[in-house]
Amino acid sequence: MELIIGSHVSFTKDEQLKGSVIEALKYESNTFMFYTGAPQNTLRAKIDDNKTKEALKLMEENNININNVIVHAPYIINLANNNNFDFNVRFLKEEIKRVELLGVKLIVLHPGSHIGLGVDAGIKNIVSALNMALDKSNNVIICLETMAGKGTEIGKCFEEIKKIIDGVELKDKIGVCMDTCHLNDAGYDLSNFDEVLDEFDKIVGLKYLKVIHINDSKNVMGARKDRHENIGFGTIGFDKLINIIYNERLNIPKLLETPYYNGLAPYKEEIKMIREKKFNENLLDDISK
Ligand code: FE
Ligand code: FE
Ligand code: ZN
Repeated sequence: MELIIGSHVSFTKDEQLKGSVIEALKYESNTFMFYTGAPQNTLRAKIDDNKTKEALKLMEENNININNVIVHAPYIINLANNNNFDFNVRFLKEEIKRVELLGVKLIVLHPGSHIGLGVDAGIKNIVSALNMALDKSNNVIICLETMAGKGTEIGKCFEEIKKIIDGVELKDKIGVCMDTCHLNDAGYDLSNFDEVLDEFDKIVGLKYLKVIHINDSKNVMGARKDRHENIGFGTIGFDKLINIIYNERLNIPKLLETPYYNGLAPYKEEIKMIREKKFNENLLDDISK
């Protein structure tokens, strides 16, 4: 099994996908994830087809398979609540089109927060939004991310993810993205990841699992906080994360979303540590070098 590993990278208005590829290569990644614009707003630049072509060529030359590349939908989009519901659905539709223009196949989406409506009403909203946004001609899979359960977040357990998938009509266009920090914070014990995968398989089905975010956590299991930590420096720890990364059943893209240190991306050093399976306790110093 070849390790498919990368990190969050930027996507700028000027350099677009080409800039993202160059950044990923700097970290010695063979995949990457990006937002098509700022995650906290819905302003989006027009896709430049020339930049996309150049990016695809660069990816081919460097053995980055576009099928492993991920777009993260902006977290400002909340499909679970009634506020701005139509706007959010329309934005998601447009985002799907942008992603298709880029040739990317996988979109990670936070299911949303019900903000007082209750879990069931929230799930109902998410399901109708997805059914409105997706259509047969689409060539993307929307991957629902497992959440930490902060506030009124939906997707904090596999049962909620399952309920959403059950309601989606186009089942071949829906998937799941696990996030190790979120799983930990939601109360899943990551000591034996095969047990977590067994439970996921029983409730949702492993075939839906398309992506995994690899993050350590600043908080203890079940804290429902969602604060990412650098690999090996949090409460999950290096050994458990390595066991997850190298689990034979997870032949899917693995993406780091760990925090920057003094304004610098930690990804090159973290990916090196993961490839060597050896914890570097001086990681934070090495990043600054
Ligand atoms: Fe996310
Ligand atoms: Fe994540
Ligand atoms: Zn998170």
